[in-house]
Amino acid sequence: MLRVEEVSKSFDGFRAVHQAHLSVEAGAIVAVIGPNGAGKTTLFNLITGVLTPDRGRVLFEGVEISRQPPYEICRRGIARTFQIANIFPRLTVFANVQVAVLAHERQSLNLIRPARTLAVRETTSILEGTGLQHKARRLAGALSHGDQRILEIAIALGSQPRLLVLDEPTAGMSPEETAATMALIRRLARERGLTILFCEHDMEVVFSVAESIMVMRQGRTIVQGPPDAVRQNREVQEAYLGTSHA
Ligand code: ADP
Ligand code: MG
Repeated sequence: MLRVEEVSKSFDGFRAVHQAHLSVEAGAIVAVIGPNGAGKTTLFNLITGVLTPDRGRVLFEGVEISRQPPYEICRRGIARTFQIANIFPRLTVFANVQVAVLAHERQSLNLIRPARTLAVRETTSILEGTGLQHKARRLAGALSHGDQRILEIAIALGSQPRLLVLDEPTAGMSPEETAATMALIRRLARERGLTILFCEHDMEVVFSVAESIMVMRQGRTIVQGPPDAVRQNREVQEAYLGTSHA
């Protein structure tokens, strides 16, 4: 579904991402792990069109998207969340999601179709799917940190993506919230037929959920493969596992 081919991005000569590669199969849950500064967020920005690679390319369903603007990439079926939650704090939870649904449906809007009514139905379904239905009338800014992160996922679902890209979805969450959020992500993937690409620095989270793991270090891909293969990779053990399991 997604192929990242040897992409590089430098900032003033500093190689944030250097010849990184990644592949994501349709229906899979794929994780990118690496310590802070490894280049995970930059890689996700390159995939979603927030940044343009200096070299290399990104293909989504066989089409090169690396030089397309973010809205075009979103229209093709990729939605993402940010490491720091990106919501409208002074709108209700319901309105936050409805705005996303309406923005997406505008593209297929015509005079006969009752867009607003449809958006209400779709918004309700997304809120139920993410467990936010009982908080629909609250102001988004009044939610707990954990619920704000879930709301961001709900907003991303508003564009009816096929690939959901999540930047550290459990950052700042308690262990209980983290477990609940990963369970939610798994369930959404199953129920909505979504493909998931997420990044994390917490290895436990990654190894418990991901079917394929890509390890990044200093902007490069060390390895990508199933959890067992990654765990046994010598370079990964030295570079990453070694440091926290010494
Ligand atoms: P991660 O998400 O894995 O923590 P990032 O992709 O955020 O890593 O950052 C990778 C490296 O690139 C870091 O050293 C960071 O300081 C640098 N970097 C990221 N974005 C920029 C930018 N816009 N300008 C300059 N340096 C940046
Ligand atoms: Mg990051």
